[in-house]
Amino acid sequence: MLIQELSRQESLDLLARAHLGRLACAHKSQPYVVPFYFAYDNEYLYSFSTVGQKIEWMRANPKVCVEADEVVSPQQWMSVIVFGRYEELPNIPEWRGARELARKKLLERNAIWWEPGYAKTILHDRERPLAAFFYRIHVEQITGHRATPEPATPHRARPSMTGPIGGEWLQKILRPVRKHP
Ligand SMILES: Cc1cc2nc3c(=O)[nH]c(=O)nc-3n(C[C@H](O)[C@H](O)[C@H](O)COP(=O)(O)OP(=O)(O)OC[C@H]3O[C@@H](n4cnc5c(N)ncnc54)[C@H](O)[C@@H]3O)c2cc1C
Repeated sequence: MLIQELSRQESLDLLARAHLGRLACAHKSQPYVVPFYFAYDNEYLYSFSTVGQKIEWMRANPKVCVEADEVVSPQQWMSVIVFGRYEELPNIPEWRGARELARKKLLERNAIWWEPGYAKTILHDRERPLAAFFYRIHVEQITGHRATPEPATPHRARPSMTGPIGGEWLQKILRPVRKHP
């Protein structure tokens, strides 16, 4: 298997095709990651949520990280990692354009885009308030990797399992575990 870098444009193209990612934020040295739906447009990821832990944490610390991928098999995949900044899109006239864009983009991707972000949530026997809003993540840095299976190598050219490449350490990992009586 070979892993290579994607260009910035290839990485942004993956974000434009993807709609499910992992959003990580951090508060007082504690990381927190959640799955979320998003729609990409022109260096921003748009999404929708009610207020809970992730929103409170991103309000306190807007520096976030997002991961998205396309996986065909363990040897064939692409993934991107974004370092970005959280921004709320408040329900005021100045932000109407951005909120409309978010709604339109999310709707294009999924007819029920609002449901995961606007679900009745009961935690510890308490229902949380359903105050929903749009937010976006500005893509400040992005990297992408692509893994491809290497073409079949002739038997004699393959690295030896006991040689210096893929050597004893790999044998140790792959060796079946002996059961002691
Ligand atoms: C495929 C998918 C897509 C989703 N898309 C969206 C979306 O677009 N917008 C959106 O707002 N939410 C989405 N969700 C739900 C999201 O992952 C969070 O569960 C939700 O947003 C609540 O997050 P919170 O920080 O407000 O949690 P809170 O309700 O404040 O949760 C408190 C605690 O519950 C636990 N918890 C929270 N979420 C999860 C979870 N998913 N799994 C296990 N434990 C959890 C954590 O320990 C957390 O500390 C999606 C979930 C999935 C699986």
